[in-house]
Amino acid sequence: MRRGIIWWTVLADIKSQTAGELQAQFELWRQPVYRVSQVLEWLYLHRTTDWDEMTSLPRALRDQLRNHYSLHSLELVRRQGSRDTTQKFLWRLADGSLIESVLIPASPALYAEPSDRQTLCVSTQVGCAYGCKFCASGLAGLKRNLAVEEIVDQLLAVERAESKARSPKPKVQDGDEKGSVRLHEPCDAPSAARRSVASPRLVSNLVIMGMGEPLANYDNLIQALRILNAHWGGAIGARKITISTSGLAPQIRKLAAEPLQFRLAISLHGATDATRNKIMPVNRRYPLRELTAACEYYLQKKGRMITFEYILIEGVNAGLDQVNPLAALARRLKAKVNLIPYNQVEGLPWQRPSESAQEAFLRALVGQKVLATLRREKGHDIEAACGQLRLKTEQELAHPI
Ligand code: SF4
Repeated sequence: MRRGIIWWTVLADIKSQTAGELQAQFELWRQPVYRVSQVLEWLYLHRTTDWDEMTSLPRALRDQLRNHYSLHSLELVRRQGSRDTTQKFLWRLADGSLIESVLIPASPALYAEPSDRQTLCVSTQVGCAYGCKFCASGLAGLKRNLAVEEIVDQLLAVERAESKARSPKPKVQDGDEKGSVRLHEPCDAPSAARRSVASPRLVSNLVIMGMGEPLANYDNLIQALRILNAHWGGAIGARKITISTSGLAPQIRKLAAEPLQFRLAISLHGATDATRNKIMPVNRRYPLRELTAACEYYLQKKGRMITFEYILIEGVNAGLDQVNPLAALARRLKAKVNLIPYNQVEGLPWQRPSESAQEAFLRALVGQKVLATLRREKGHDIEAACGQLRLKTEQELAHPI
């Protein structure tokens, strides 16, 4: 008996494609180049989630796109806002997995002066394999890497959710080219840049510091950041994008070779191997000697200041005896230190130090000529540590009351 063979074709998502890649496809379809520009506007200016909303495109082209690409969007499951207006978003992906993004507006309390800066903290994996002892995201291990479009859509989905009430839908007639810019030049042409720079973008800065170890999903992350940085895409300057890592030394060296000038943050949380080994298993693979050598290489290649993220945990790394090694590392790498009081995670034993102990740590560090800040409260009341909202929601789904 002959058995039938069923073929499944997984369509590439259109939000995983660069303008150049789309242009190459449109050339094969013998579509004029301005159509690429129109599609990009629908995706990144209007944040469209449905092919049928792309009304400036002929219906036949919409059908061709639908048959060739998928157009997935994140589904909002839960949203929490804290008293200081930090907003936490929990998203459901197409396979049912949950991830988080956090929108952090600048506030006078944090930056000493009013600012319209809006920073979005983006996830790169579902769960995390690195198992830092203080972190909710690592508790259940790694489920999978996020796809390019799942990273890209965090920006668009947050902006969709935020601007729903504010921005009216674009009124463009079926098949009408008015309302979109003709793009007879290649997509990286200066005219396209001017158009996109003028577009409204709620989010001004990205920190790749949400759930997951960003550099463990290197290729998808870099492709997503190319799209989020491009003038035809997210239009967020590379200098406004900070990539964080728990210490993957080889990938830091790889990142140093990327042409874009991203900022690098090291989730340090301990300035000696003894302390890091206690709370960050990654340090056994890449101890401080290797990590700092990779940071020096990055500094030398990029000439960009590195940031150390340092979560203050009572009885682990917040004692004044930790200040000297931390100051020595920071001075050697010309790094800025961000002190972050620990956000308690249900089920984990760690505590944040008292406010006076936090202040004393900051004073001692600054006294050693280190550029340092202490994060005053942002999101403590909304389970703002990475992975907490997802964990809580999964527990509720598993044990409904
Ligand atoms: S802190 Fe970052 S690297 Fe460590 S377990 Fe959590 S998500 Fe993973």
